[in-house]
Amino acid sequence: MKVLIAGGGIGGLTAALCCLHFGHDVTVFEQAADLTETGAGLQIPPNAMKVFEALGLSTPISANAFQPEFIEARMGITGRAIFSIPLAQYAIDNWGAPYLHIHRADYIKALSQALQQQAASALQLNSKIASYQNTDHGVTLTLKDGREFSGDLLIGADGIKSEVRTQMLGPDSPRFTGNIAWRIVAPVQELREPTPNPSACVWMGPGRHGVTYLLRRGELANFVGVVEQPSPLKEGWQVKGRPAEALKDFKGWHPIVRKLIEAADPDNLYRWALFDRPPLTSWVDGQVALLGDAAHPMLPFLAQGAAMAVEDSWTIAREISEKGRPIATSLHAYEKRRYARVLKVQNQSRANMTTFHRRTKLGQLGTYGPMWLAGRLLPTVVHRRMDWLYGYDVTRPDGY
Ligand SMILES: Cc1cc2nc3c(=O)[nH]c(=O)nc-3n(C[C@H](O)[C@H](O)[C@H](O)COP(=O)(O)OP(=O)(O)OC[C@H]3O[C@@H](n4cnc5c(N)ncnc54)[C@H](O)[C@@H]3O)c2cc1C
Repeated sequence: MKVLIAGGGIGGLTAALCCLHFGHDVTVFEQAADLTETGAGLQIPPNAMKVFEALGLSTPISANAFQPEFIEARMGITGRAIFSIPLAQYAIDNWGAPYLHIHRADYIKALSQALQQQAASALQLNSKIASYQNTDHGVTLTLKDGREFSGDLLIGADGIKSEVRTQMLGPDSPRFTGNIAWRIVAPVQELREPTPNPSACVWMGPGRHGVTYLLRRGELANFVGVVEQPSPLKEGWQVKGRPAEALKDFKGWHPIVRKLIEAADPDNLYRWALFDRPPLTSWVDGQVALLGDAAHPMLPFLAQGAAMAVEDSWTIAREISEKGRPIATSLHAYEKRRYARVLKVQNQSRANMTTFHRRTKLGQLGTYGPMWLAGRLLPTVVHRRMDWLYGYDVTRPDGY
């Protein structure tokens, strides 16, 4: 089958690799002139790593990643521990794959190199998709520069502002979620003590939270700092910010957080307005389907947006490989398999905002007290609550 893919982000590249794995021909159309990435980290949870293991890509992906030893939650100002539970070996033994942290640039590089090795001319840069047309035999797409391409199907993996989605369902704007996120990376050797633990650490505070973790074999430290505010304030959703603004947002916070902000390259300090959209009524139009953020953008409070795009990629490639049925039927089967799981992840991500940002002492006690107790007395309860998410294996027919 000839598969056309809009967008060369994590979703589009992984979809291309999954389609190649199932024996299809792929072309990825990416609007950018090259695949550069913002200086920021991402967590790759075990549910996504299982796809890369099935594709034979766990070695190149983990080569430049970092495997956190434990997962912890702390109070943002005092640094007081809420819980700390093992992660590295636990993830492999119980969720079936490692839990990794990676720089976005390293992630994209590993995926694009794998694509280049398997299909040298599959990635078309400088190729912005303008529109598509379902035909009797498949789909035709037109680029902004007027070039046309035909295939059996089109996967719209062109992100939250997707052109493919707009044509499929009509224009609408993503909604501002009332949160901005600082994304900051600093070299560990430039940090003064205390440095971040080799963990995935969530720092909780009133109306804001932070996440610290290490990247690139432990050479870099990453900070995501989310702050509630009524409007995005600045035009654009990814703008450079100033260290003084970030330090103001995390005034009085623990030295690990503040030293990380201070050590960041001021030219590489990003402030993202976080947008999502209500769940779409459909992800499919004839021989065209949406995937990743184009279909289901979400708040990053469960660190699963890219992971969901990775799971989508395996499912769509497997469904279109079912013989003897029209492509549109296969695409609806893909949507059906994915919809409920993605919705649950979207909802859980949103719910985490309330948990992480408790404002009153009473609210903090009511939420973090039981967490503290469970982490001490019954750490397996904390682990088990994540089984549905991390234990899921999209590469198996039953998901487990
Ligand atoms: C602060 C923050 C932290 C996050 N942390 C995590 C995390 O730890 N783990 C995780 O799994 N997820 C995380 N996410 C979510 C994750 O970044 C996204 O879900 C993921 O990048 C979506 O990938 P995508 O390929 O669907 O879309 P995108 O990454 O947006 O890629 C879309 C691509 O399509 C291209 N494109 C757009 N329009 C066109 C067009 N018309 N023609 C051709 N090309 C086009 C774009 O240039 C881009 O390359 C985080 C997000 C944020 C904001």
